[in-house]
This record gives sequence, C-alpha cells and structure tokens, in this order.
Amino acid sequence: MIQIRKFSILPRVPERIKALERIASNLWWAWNPEAISLFRRLDENLFSATNHNAIKMLGLVDQDRLDQLVDDSGFLSHLDNVTQALDDYMSASTWFKEEHGDRTDMKVAYFSAEFGLHESLPIYSGGLGVLAGDHLKAASDLGIPLVGVGLLYQQGYFRQYLNADGWQQEHYPQNDFYTMVCEIERDGSGEEVKVSIEYPGRTVVARVWKVQVGRVPLYLLDANIPENSPEDRQITAQLYGGDQDMRVRQELLLGVGGLRAVRALGIEPSVCHMNEGHSAFLSIEKIATAMEKHKIDFDTASKTVASGCVFTTHTPVEAGNDMFPPYLVDTYMAPFYKRLGIDREKFMGLGRQHPEDKGEPFCMTVLALRLANHANGVSKLHGQVSRRMWKKIWPDVPEGDVPISSITNGIHVKSVLSAEMSQLYDRYLGVDWGDRPGDHSIWQRVEQIPDAELWRIHERRKERLVAFARRRMKRQLGVRNAPASEIQMADSILDPDALTIGFARRFATYKRGTLIFRDLDRLAKIVNDPNRPVQFIFAGKAHPRDNGGKELIAHIVHVSRRDEFRRRIVFLEDYDLNVARYLVQGVDVWLNNPRRPLEASGTSGMKGPTNGNLNMSVLDGWWVEGFAHDNGWAIGGGEEYSDLNYQDEVESRAMYELLEKEVAPLYYGRQADGLPRGWIHYMKRSMMTVCPTFNTNRMVQEYTERFYIDAHDGFVDLTKGDLSTGREYAQWLRRVEQEWKNVAVEDVTTLGDDHVKVGGDLRVMARIKLGSLQPSDVNVELYHGDLDAAGQISSPNTVAMSGNGSGDGGVFSFEGSIPCQASGQHGYAVRVLPQNPHLDRLEPGLIRWG
Ligand SMILES: *Cc1c(COP(=O)(O)O)cnc(C)c1O
Repeated sequence: MIQIRKFSILPRVPERIKALERIASNLWWAWNPEAISLFRRLDENLFSATNHNAIKMLGLVDQDRLDQLVDDSGFLSHLDNVTQALDDYMSASTWFKEEHGDRTDMKVAYFSAEFGLHESLPIYSGGLGVLAGDHLKAASDLGIPLVGVGLLYQQGYFRQYLNADGWQQEHYPQNDFYTMVCEIERDGSGEEVKVSIEYPGRTVVARVWKVQVGRVPLYLLDANIPENSPEDRQITAQLYGGDQDMRVRQELLLGVGGLRAVRALGIEPSVCHMNEGHSAFLSIEKIATAMEKHKIDFDTASKTVASGCVFTTHTPVEAGNDMFPPYLVDTYMAPFYKRLGIDREKFMGLGRQHPEDKGEPFCMTVLALRLANHANGVSKLHGQVSRRMWKKIWPDVPEGDVPISSITNGIHVKSVLSAEMSQLYDRYLGVDWGDRPGDHSIWQRVEQIPDAELWRIHERRKERLVAFARRRMKRQLGVRNAPASEIQMADSILDPDALTIGFARRFATYKRGTLIFRDLDRLAKIVNDPNRPVQFIFAGKAHPRDNGGKELIAHIVHVSRRDEFRRRIVFLEDYDLNVARYLVQGVDVWLNNPRRPLEASGTSGMKGPTNGNLNMSVLDGWWVEGFAHDNGWAIGGGEEYSDLNYQDEVESRAMYELLEKEVAPLYYGRQADGLPRGWIHYMKRSMMTVCPTFNTNRMVQEYTERFYIDAHDGFVDLTKGDLSTGREYAQWLRRVEQEWKNVAVEDVTTLGDDHVKVGGDLRVMARIKLGSLQPSDVNVELYHGDLDAAGQISSPNTVAMSGNGSGDGGVFSFEGSIPCQASGQHGYAVRVLPQNPHLDRLEPGLIRWG
C-alpha cells in the first residue's frame, strides 16, 4: 500500500483583511445579515457554489481578488463594521449575566445526535437537529454558560436527488472537515485531545472538533482516525445510518464519549441536558464516575446525578423511541454492570417501564426519564401525550401528575429572517428588537409598519423564491439529463403573483405529504382558477429506509408532471436549511397537515411568521397554542380519529374549503391601490402573535429558569463537601423505600357536614400509619376536584394536610380542609408522598392512596 501523507493548504489572506478568517470561523456570521452580505460581496458565485461555506470560500477565492480587496475602501469599511459587530457581540453583557450572574459556576452541557446550524455543516437530518442548532444560537445570544456535544459525521445525512421516475436516490458526499467551520481541539502541548471508550474486546478512540457558535462552543466527536479499526471508523460515518448495533455504538460514543470529551477539555458540567434519548448513556457514565470518585454506592450516585440531568423527549410514537434488545445492551454495556456494582437485571430495569418484565426491550427514553429529574415534551399537547405514554413508569400516579412537563419549541428568529425584513424591523421595531425577541411589546410595533412597505418586501421575497425554484429545477433536470424542452420549461414554472403555498418537511408518512392530492379534480380547479390561481412548492427528504415516504415524494412528482399542474406544483430536491430559508421567506402560506397528535411540536411553521407568512395547519403540536383565528387557519377542530381513511377524507375536504372560501378570496381581495389589506392585516397578526412566543430565546430562557438553575442548585447542594448532603439524602430515601410497605391510610373522616355551601370548607381528618417514618418524612395531601361523568377527578387540585405531633404506635392524624368554591359534585382522596427538600419530583413507587 502506498503511504499517503496528508497536508493542508491554507489561503494567504492579506493582513488588512485577515479579520475575514475570524468572522468565517464563528457561525455568528450566519445570522448576521451584514456579515452574510460581506461574504456575498467577496465572491457571489463562490459563495453560492460552496453552499455558503465561508471557510471553504476563503480557501478557494483567487489570490488576485483578495489582493484587490485590500484597496477597495467600500469593502474595507464593510469589513470593519462587521468585525466591530462581532467584537461587540462577543463582549456585550447578556441576559444571563444580568439576571443570574451570581451562578458563576454553572455549566450546562447540551447533548444531541444532530445539530442543524447551517447548510455548510451538514450534520443534521431535520427538525430535531435544527432545534438543537437554534438552542445553541439562543444560548449564545442570552449568554447561557452552555456547551454543545455531538458527533461529527464524515458523510452527514444523505443528499437527495430524484431519478426520472421521481424515486428518491441518496448519495453521501464526504465532508472535508478541514474546509469547514470546525477546528481540532488540542491540549497545552499541541496534541489532539482524544477520548477512549471501551467497546467489546477493544478500545475506540475519538478526537474532538470545535465549532464556534457565537459565544457557545459545540464539541463534536470524530472516530474516523487511524487508531481505530476500519469498522470502528464507521461509527461516525453517517447520521441515522446503519442497523441497531451501529445505533448503540453511536450512542455509546455520544453519551459516554461526549461526557469524557468535555471533561477532557476541563469542563465539569453541573447540568447535562439530553436532547432526545440518544445521549442517555451519559447519565450511566456520570453515575459510574461519581461512584469511583466519592466511593459511594449506585443509589447515592444515581440520585445525585439525576438531580443535575434534564431530558427533552420529542417522539410521540412508541416506535420512534430507541429500543434495544437486551442482548445488544449486554454486548456494549456489560462493563458498566460491574462498574455500577449492580446486576444485569437491575441495569435492564433502568430502561424498562416494568423493570421486572424480562421481555421488555431496553428503551433509551425510559432510561433518560428515570435518570433525569427534569423532563419535558416540546408543546403543551405533546406534554400531555408524553405523560400518557410513559405513565407506567410511575405506577399509581394520576396521568396529570406524571413528572413530564412541557416547554414549547421555538426557532432562532435571525436565522430565518430575510435581510429585507430585518431592515424593516430595524426601522419600525427599533434597533434592539433582536436582543429581546421574546418581548411582546416590541412585536406590537408591527402595527406601525406601513402596509405598502410590508407588502413590497413580501413581493420581492416571493420573486426571489420563484427565481430560486426555477434555477433549482433547471439544475435538477440537467443532472438527470432531462430533454432540453423540459429544462426550458422550467423557466415558466410558478408565477410570482400567484398565491403560493409551501410544504416542506421530512417525508414521514404521518405528515401526510400528499393529502392535498386526495381530490385531484378539485385541486386542479383551485390551482387553475383564472382569477385566483394557487401554486404549491414541495420539498423534503424521506429516510433512506422509508419506502412509504419515498412513495409520497414520487406521487408528488408524478402529479406535478400532469399538464394541469405543471406550472403550479413543483418539487424541489435536497431540502436543507438554505432551501428552507428561501421557502419560509417567500411563500404566502405554510401548509402542515400531520395526523394529530403525532407532530410533537413542529417548528417550520414558526419560521414564516417572522417574514410575514400565514400558517394553515392541523391543530397539532405548537399550532394548538399559536392559532388565534386572525393569524392563519386551522384545518379541523383538533379532532383525533380511529378511522384514518375517514380522517383523510374529512381533513382534505376541510383544506379545499379553506382554500376556496377563505384563503384565496382574502389573498386576492385587492383594494384600489392594489394592496390586499385584509391579507396584510392577517400577516401583521401572524407576526405579532407568533414571533414573541415561538422563538428559541423565550424557549432557552424557559429551560434556564425552570430547569437549568434548579438542576444546577440541586446538584451543587447534593455534591458539596464530598457529597455529604447527597449521602444523607440517599440514606433517607433508602429508609423511606424500605419502610414504604408499612405506610397506609388507616381511615378518613369528614368532619362536620358533607353538604357544604359555596364559600365554605370541607374539613377532613385522616389517620396515617407511617411505620418507623415521621410526619416530617411525608406529605399527606387532599387530592380533590370536580367529578367527571366517569366519576373521576380530571383536573385535580391538592391541599396539604397537617399532622398533629405525637403518633400512637406509628399512626398519626392529619387534618386539612378543601375550599368549596363552586357547587356541584366533587370528590377527594387522601394520598401520602415522601417529602424532602432534595426530592424534586415523584419517585416511582412512592405514593400511597387512601
Ligand atoms: C425547520 C426545519 C425542519 C423542521 O420542520 P418541521 O416541519 O418542524 O418538521 C426540518 N428541516 C429543515 C431543513 C428545517 O429548516
């Protein structure tokens, strides 16, 4: 074999414009319109040819061009402005510093299998990755002390093209990290930082790359290095590629390797946030290292670690959650059984809803739920769905009390906002609008934007979108050697004046990408209405192994080739962040018709309103919270169906009705001045109602104030002084667990009359047997509320009961009263829960009802 020696060639950027390198090395530039236009100005064609990869472009740009810029005073002052803006951004005070600056030792590590930061860093597949990318950007804007942790995939996610029959083909270009916005992490002596992880019969080594996202670093592990066998080098080859065995290998690297990597860099996170269950092994590593360091047992360590872990679930279908057969867990995790000092069954139980059920697979979501004290779904509805899905982990706990709350997703506004709209905001919302995107009063100023100006910008963006779509169509037809006549026709697809509807997302079947095609005759009439034409732009990838999804794409392509649809329906290949931006900046309406409640949140619909588009969506995910009647349209009323075919029929008809009777008439209802005033009113309402809430700055603030700070404080408290508090707490918990079988509600008495008048109180006394526990160890509660038709309490309230001193043979009396505010049938029950300042959520199994 010929030994090839590698070397890298770096461009020679003249001193005067050296700052270009610094700007290109921080993805901050990607959400700063001035910086983007600087790179465009440097070399427009190259910028586009590299898919907006600023680093790569600096390596390719002609030396002549670089030398020429040194004398271009316009360029130089543009460069100086952007450099200043970057410096200002990096040194400015931040929300976190001002609000929570006293927590100087807090450090959050945010783990995700994918990060969608920019099209030039293709290590994401869809919504989960884009959300993770936006989380980092918002954390940077807010100054949260946070680092991201993920994997650097040699081939990323696949690139999509369609064959002549519309069938999705995948190809996997190699990422050249040396010409991307990442840098190898090195230690003080210049050596690459590496981490080692035990795999069966071998050790796998990974090096660490850093991507700078504003103030926040993202660390990415790379196993494609000579120390590893050819097979192991594949661990970081593809995102969501390979079989279940590969999946475990990747997740072991992400969770265990990821934590070791941040530690190797000198960061000891007080809070670990798992974005989806892929990284949940990190808690296992954290427990094992805590046991070794502090000489504590598994229970003490796991309780301590859980206090500092946060988990976000994203998947409302059982099958979408990672589940591994026990033999695979044995293969990769057996060394941990020993390190944790627990037997195999106890380990398996951590990943099972019923720990004793030997037939149940090992589920990463269950593992994360058991080992993170803070857990959430990603919209209010998804929170409910998640509590129902996972309630078996907490037997006897009413669904509403299952400790999974919700924090609704958002988007990073500046990353999807058009430059034109950004300028408009600077003019009418004030230049500081971008620092406080969660401030409702700022968005109220949208009212002051003159209708004509808003409309003109929107029309411009739509023209840009149509031009982009034609260019892409020509290119994709050219690649597949389509006839010249067909390529030429691409110049006449779409009409920049027609009502334009966008539909772009992963082609998972539950998203029903072809629902609008259910009645093609009716659709043909809608799109070809001579006075009120309508057109559709589709884009999206199907998972390589999802033939159902690929069929949907082929169906769209076939329909779009019919004469009656040729100009009005197009499918753009290779959906990515760049295509997404063109779409959300240019369409009039964003269509979303998932099968409720399977869209946990959805975020693409939040991107349009920043640019003034309207949503037309099934009431699922975020839109349940976002829809406000005059800011878009709801398809249906939030129903769920058991007959899916019937559901498709009802909901497709609802879409046609809306298009015919509401959407098109509003869009084409022009005043004498040519402006669609009614539509513009809707645009403004969409901006004012959606933008202040559904953005990642609000979202990350919520994670910080509801979870991170709590988790940090809890973790610090339990671990202080060689874990003395943690040990005490774990001892207490063990005593409670052992004694819990003796806890019982002996009897319950209503004191006085049980027909109470409104405004009165119902007084209740209960005698509780506590065994060797004390009243201070428990919370005795009255659980009460209106009775529904089934005789159940569907929206309960709780009041604490107070104990009176001395117990008689371990039996204590507790008293409390229920305030009676409304007439009708009410019910109550008495329940006992453990109580401790360090117990911040319900422990599975520790609840007793009367
Ligand atoms: C925003 C975005 C998504 C998420 O879309 P959903 O409709 O929320 O699933 C997926 N892919 C890309 C490229 C995006 O920009």
